[in-house]
Amino acid sequence: MLLNVDLALRRIAALVQPVAERENVQLADAVNRTAAQDVVAPIDLPPFDASAMDGYAIDASAADHENRKRFRVVGRSVAGRPAGETVGPGEAVRIFTGAVVPDGANAIVLQEDAVGEDGFMETSVPARIGDHVRQRGQDVRRGATLCRRGRRFNVYDLSRLAACGIARVSVTRRIRVAVFSTGDELVGAGRPLEPGQIYESNRFAVTALLRERAVELVDLGCLPDDRRAIEGALLEASQRADLIVTSGGVSVGDADFVKDAVESVGQLDFWRIALKPGKPLAVGSVDGALFFGLPGNPVSTIITYLLFVAPAVDLLAGGELARPLTLPATLGDDVKHAVGRREYLRGAVRVEDGRPVVRLTGDQGSNRLSTFAGANCLVVIDENTGDLQAGDAVRFMPLGGR
Ligand code: AMP
Ligand code: MG
Repeated sequence: MLLNVDLALRRIAALVQPVAERENVQLADAVNRTAAQDVVAPIDLPPFDASAMDGYAIDASAADHENRKRFRVVGRSVAGRPAGETVGPGEAVRIFTGAVVPDGANAIVLQEDAVGEDGFMETSVPARIGDHVRQRGQDVRRGATLCRRGRRFNVYDLSRLAACGIARVSVTRRIRVAVFSTGDELVGAGRPLEPGQIYESNRFAVTALLRERAVELVDLGCLPDDRRAIEGALLEASQRADLIVTSGGVSVGDADFVKDAVESVGQLDFWRIALKPGKPLAVGSVDGALFFGLPGNPVSTIITYLLFVAPAVDLLAGGELARPLTLPATLGDDVKHAVGRREYLRGAVRVEDGRPVVRLTGDQGSNRLSTFAGANCLVVIDENTGDLQAGDAVRFMPLGGR
């Protein structure tokens, strides 16, 4: 029986114990960190009624304003330097963008609708109350919740907090993640390949993807297919990390020792997932650390990372289980697909005749990292769907990039 992707994710969510420790960090250090508590606005934003334009502040409620064309200019309000004067009937204050709307005024006459001369301003355009005024609290109300606990802060969230004068936020601590790969055939870049060897890429992919999150990496290198060595690395990893992510050695071949090693030093659950690529996934724990054994084929490693490990990191950090965003598009190619497994195909989405069209980026073997070249999305083919034809509706998961 194959385990459905969504169910697997829910099982993972049930295994995760979020970290409790928090830190107080500066906003600049809070990108991608997870809010440990709700963040509440300490002030109104804008903090005062402000002009949205350059012009003249007047009282548009004055009974005669529609007939009045000539106003006496009694003061000047510049951003950061409010006018001391109050605006009375028939009066105006020269004002600029971001400046405080003076007492008595409630509308701005645009400078392009006015002529200023000799201490007077003349306009023929009638003003209404509120014209070009940014009301106090229009953007953010004091006391409003800006971000909820569990939110992974992005730059836009934090910019808003900065605008509210917040200097530091409480976040959960960084998740410590230990990573190693396994395989006798693997060598690092910079060395010539001996017969039968290949360059190791999964550890690069996994650690680079992990860096998009707030983690502390423990890189344990590349291990041979040796059960003792793998057991030792798992034990070390469990002492140093909250989460252990390995690649390779989780199939049923003679050289697949990762499962056995986890079983002897921790607990193992092995799942066959209704997923392509990336069917086998080992999940378990070693001395309190959560364990993921990802399949070794490089595309499978990346897909299972994106679908299972990334959400697990978020959950460990106290975040919520977010369903990845998928968007609709028209398929540009025919796709063969057998019912039963959900498939994530590398594709490129482009706008053609005003509509998004996705085309696959070549043959989709799980060893073929080249399918990521030119890809900007994963085309998601549902487990219940059969063959598809060009022109059919599909959904895709953006990967970022172009
Ligand atoms: P395995 O899951 O160990 O059976 O590996 C499946 C395939 O992925 C084999 O062709 C391996 O050579 C390859 N592979 C495993 N680990 C890596 C890695 N870290 N980098 C590149 N290829 C790998
Ligand atoms: Mg292997």
